[in-house]
Amino acid sequence: MGQKTHHLTGPGEAVIVKMTLLLLLFMRLMTPGKYLAPALLVAALATAASAMHPASPIPPAANRPMTPVILDPGHGGEDKGAVVRGLMEKDIALVFAKKLKARLARNADLPVVLTRDSDRYVTLDERLIDSVDMSGSIFVSLHLNQVKGKKSAGAIVYSYGPEKLRLWRKRQHPSVPPMPAPPRGQAGDSERLARTFSRALRGDGFRAESSKSDYYVLKNPAAPSVLIELGYLNNPDEAAKLSDSAYQDRMVDSLAKAIEEYATLRTLRTSVATAPKAVTNRPKAGGLLLP
Ligand SMILES: [Zn+2]
Repeated sequence: MGQKTHHLTGPGEAVIVKMTLLLLLFMRLMTPGKYLAPALLVAALATAASAMHPASPIPPAANRPMTPVILDPGHGGEDKGAVVRGLMEKDIALVFAKKLKARLARNADLPVVLTRDSDRYVTLDERLIDSVDMSGSIFVSLHLNQVKGKKSAGAIVYSYGPEKLRLWRKRQHPSVPPMPAPPRGQAGDSERLARTFSRALRGDGFRAESSKSDYYVLKNPAAPSVLIELGYLNNPDEAAKLSDSAYQDRMVDSLAKAIEEYATLRTLRTSVATAPKAVTNRPKAGGLLLP
């Protein structure tokens, strides 16, 4: 388990993540059937989050390589998510996740792990623990939207933050115990990741926006995390598209490009950040200026 933190660049961060890991694994061992007591998990993550922010000298997230990507198909098993005219959110989310994994397999630098690869129930705690266990570099949860009585369309990419439209949305997600907010740096990375997704989708002709929510999985302290509502199942036109294999492939390609872009940016930022001063030249005209 320890060797999974081999890519971490800062000793401070490595210690914190290892401590968290050990605590979580201990709790998993103490909890039969892989179902963790939520209060214990909250306590562990709160400890990790407070340890990671802001007292410890943590290297910027850009210093962490992009491996592996954790894809999280929402719901599963008895938790069907949205169900509209026979279409189930849990099924479509799984199709998208599997296709996205297959599409990213073209890129050897981006290994992908799914939190579920079949129609089974996975608790929200387990989804986050997978991301910590596997030293996931980003966490992408895939869902489908449903808003009763509204003719909405398009994707929404959420990162952690106060939610504006809560009253409008029908929550498909089970109520979960409170969890501390992610460290500020992590929330900033998540927001950048969310914008990368919505930009890539719009660039390929899809309707997409980024927004904020306080979903449980977005509080993941271990990795930049987003939750993507791919479209609205209650919109018949959009539901038909989301069930169409060619449409799915096009959308998956867009999502994959966003992940590749984010990975490249992080790698470039890492090389800039770690380059010795003597060879850090000014960017040439037309060169890529990194934020
Ligand atoms: Zn959902």
